Amino acid sequence: MTDMDRRGLLKAGIAVLAGAALAPGVTLIRAFADGGEGTSSSPSASKIRWGMVIDANKCTEKCQECTNACRTENNVPFFGDERWDGHWIRKATLTPEIEGARSRSLPLLCNHCENPPCQHVCPVAATFTRHDGIVMIDKHRCIGCRYCMAACPYKARTYVFKQPDAWSNPDVPKRDKGVVEKCTFCAHRLDQGRLPACVEACNKSGEKAMIFGDLNDPKSEIYKYIRELSPKGIREDMGLKPKVYYSGI
Ligand code: SF4
Ligand code: SF4
Repeated sequence: MTDMDRRGLLKAGIAVLAGAALAPGVTLIRAFADGGEGTSSSPSASKIRWGMVIDANKCTEKCQECTNACRTENNVPFFGDERWDGHWIRKATLTPEIEGARSRSLPLLCNHCENPPCQHVCPVAATFTRHDGIVMIDKHRCIGCRYCMAACPYKARTYVFKQPDAWSNPDVPKRDKGVVEKCTFCAHRLDQGRLPACVEACNKSGEKAMIFGDLNDPKSEIYKYIRELSPKGIREDMGLKPKVYYSGI
């Protein structure tokens, strides 16, 4: 099938889906229509711009609630073997060089950069930005070249080397081996009016180290937090404009 044929089919599919009830897996196609063919869809034009703040002062080193919840929610491949396991969110420990200063634990995930190099290098427009600023991968278009993995300075993407037998959540589409995957901010949950699974798990654990919301909404908790406490993105000097901020680091 040529690329032109695929585009025609996608457009036809989108037209059919426009009047249909949303089924599991449709979110990605709809987002593709919104986001455009692999181009950055000027998230600032959208009313909503999802973002996250992580307070490293509240995140404890041993806690893995967010990583476990993400794995279950998103069918992230896990075999108990680093060679094959996927990672959409992982915990890191920062150890300061200053004597006596305490180390910090923090989750790392896709920053949904507003200027995403992963998207710029994708040769088949499989990586795209949704209307609300979430950077997504169309698993049907991805050819597994892994240019995006090399381009992402945050190491937020993993390659599906081996396909798991079981998928715990039918709301999230399966990824076949041979494609690249990463955090979606749980776009399928946001579209249902729910929080990302990691944030919900962190809240339930009592740590409440994550704040998630609309960066454009002056009434939102995250908007006020950023204005008042000025959390920082990791390596903001690179100019990628990450939408995950950290305080306490
Ligand atoms: S963190 Fe990496 S994968 Fe996520 S949008 Fe930025 S460059 Fe792309
Ligand atoms: S691995 Fe997939 S998403 Fe990444 S650059 Fe290649 S085709 Fe694009």
